[in-house]
Amino acid sequence: MRRIDRRRVERLRRRVINFGLSFALGALVATLLTNRLQTASARLSEPAPVATTGTAEPSAASPRGPAIEARPSSMSDAIGALARRNLLIPVAGVGPNRLVDTFNDARAVGRRHDAIDIMAPRGTEVRAADAGTIAKLFTSDAGGLTVYEFDPTQTFSYYYAHLDRYAPGLAEHETVKRGQLLGYVGSTGNASEDAPHLHFAIARLGTERAWWKGDPINPYPLLAK
Ligand SMILES: [Zn+2]
Repeated sequence: MRRIDRRRVERLRRRVINFGLSFALGALVATLLTNRLQTASARLSEPAPVATTGTAEPSAASPRGPAIEARPSSMSDAIGALARRNLLIPVAGVGPNRLVDTFNDARAVGRRHDAIDIMAPRGTEVRAADAGTIAKLFTSDAGGLTVYEFDPTQTFSYYYAHLDRYAPGLAEHETVKRGQLLGYVGSTGNASEDAPHLHFAIARLGTERAWWKGDPINPYPLLAK
């Protein structure tokens, strides 16, 4: 009798354990499922992402201006496009081996140079690095007598500073050819009197194509090839 009782008790104990285990497992599965469902429904109830404006590049068919080529979408694409334009060293008689990469040099407090200085005697011809249009003829304290030229796709601006004087008749909105005379090397602005040079900068223009701003691109690797 006692033995039978023990067996019964043992069986019962096992059943209880099995039941307990399967219950625990079931509860665990149920909990996991519930969590999943809750996460899924939470995701569904999230607001749809709002379309961002201002960061998107306009299409080539932008109503902003004359039809132009499609704008490169990334900076590396832009630099690639610029490299294919085969820029001319904008100072007459200067070969690639005379160029120095001063793009990352520090200039005025906390400012990067963002340009290269091409040393040359005063009066040396400054020529358009690329075909394009004269966006602005500007005189500033730092740059002195300057020219801002846009490339034909209006993606880039070329900046020529410290000019001694402009080429006769040079005017804003004028179309220029690659290699066309723009002016002469000088030291106007903050350039040292005894170190005349052309300060040459390239910028990728923003969508508004403002001549005074853009993302700087190092001209050195594009010219010294
Ligand atoms: Zn400079």
